Amino acid sequence: MSSKMDVMWGPEEEQALLDSIDHWVEKSVAPIAREYDLADKYPDVLVEEMKELGLFGATISTEYGGLGLPARIYAKIVIKVSSVWMAPTGIFNSHLIMASAIERCGTEEQKRKYLPRMASGELRGALGLTEPNAGTDLQAIRTVARREGDHYVINGAKTWITNSMHGDMALLLVKTDPAAQPRHKGMSMFIAEKGDGFIVAKKMKKMGYRAIDTCELVFEDYKVPAENLLGGVEGRGFHNAVGGLELGRINVAARGAGIAEGALRLSVRYAQERRTFGKPICEHQAIQLKLGEMAARVEASKLLIESAANAYDRGERCDMEAGMAKYMATEAGAFCAEQGMRIFGGYSYSVEYEIERFYRDAMLMCIGEGTNEMQRIIIAKQLVARHKI
Ligand SMILES: Cc1cc2nc3c(=O)[nH]c(=O)nc-3n(C[C@H](O)[C@H](O)[C@H](O)COP(=O)(O)OP(=O)(O)OC[C@H]3O[C@@H](n4cnc5c(N)ncnc54)[C@H](O)[C@@H]3O)c2cc1C
Repeated sequence: MSSKMDVMWGPEEEQALLDSIDHWVEKSVAPIAREYDLADKYPDVLVEEMKELGLFGATISTEYGGLGLPARIYAKIVIKVSSVWMAPTGIFNSHLIMASAIERCGTEEQKRKYLPRMASGELRGALGLTEPNAGTDLQAIRTVARREGDHYVINGAKTWITNSMHGDMALLLVKTDPAAQPRHKGMSMFIAEKGDGFIVAKKMKKMGYRAIDTCELVFEDYKVPAENLLGGVEGRGFHNAVGGLELGRINVAARGAGIAEGALRLSVRYAQERRTFGKPICEHQAIQLKLGEMAARVEASKLLIESAANAYDRGERCDMEAGMAKYMATEAGAFCAEQGMRIFGGYSYSVEYEIERFYRDAMLMCIGEGTNEMQRIIIAKQLVARHKI
């Protein structure tokens, strides 16, 4: 699989694509970031440009109209965008996680029906796992789908679902057999297009990751055709959801590394402009120690991401590697954003300076796609499993 993609995406094609992303970020993303973030205003204008760039089909196979990018190149795109403004990556990221689940686990009919329209951005998706009572412990979800003839009736609630207001559909994790033991055997996923009973109840007000819609959803006797059961078989929902986590973790790691890199870039610049005691602050050793530490963490994060993405593209199991990349890169994002705040001093608290946005956005990366507490537990379990005595 990967070797085919790598032939298509040789070094020249890769560079041309990354250059076009650089150009877009500079021309379109950077100028609006502060205004849209502070106003919590959805960047429709970027969505149209993302369609032109092919970002909604970035990791969808060429067979279904996507760019067929390997994770290695996709991660570089996410780092580039996030180094200027992380939030817009959520518009195509959640959508692509839904698409990747359909491509991995869907029936051929589901792939042909949805993937080409997702790749073009005509249909935009979200990932609906979390519920008010269940995030890390996904097997505790309560949303239920009950079969009635040729369709299922869904009742329940989801929360924190990104893209669910401006998107057209969501991949929902539900219980088709709430009494099943073990619990995961009673779980299934549905491709849920918006319709009667699919209610976007509330857009959530967030500290960071603003401008992007994250909502509470309610399902009241929402009917979904039986043919939209992912893969056509009940009971595989939990397996399908966690099967996408390796790519998801590489994505979030890339967002964290982008935040770290952006915070470093702003800090290196400011440390040369701001003077105290007759010299630029970058000449004070206390500031140099911060910049040196930040730069080392940025580079280490990028190498871990590349290593995990390469393993993923080779088709190898890489839950431990992706977990390490996710943990280290997102912690680097939080660390660098905080150090940046200290380097900017009092001005870090002004919304006139962008460093405060990086600070507000960074913490989410440590929580989403499996908290960093869970990442370390996953790493440890894998370590023991791979080195059994
Ligand atoms: C802005 C934003 C956007 C989001 N977008 C989406 C989305 O698009 N789709 C979606 O489905 N979800 C989304 N989420 C939800 C996110 O994935 C969850 O918040 C996350 O999985 C954590 O779940 P929780 O909030 O329920 O925390 P909890 O599971 O309640 O965890 C609370 C704390 O307990 C710790 N903990 C829990 N269990 C264990 C354990 N066994 N061992 C050790 N520590 C443990 C956790 O690490 C954490 O520190 C989003 C969240 C936010 C904030």
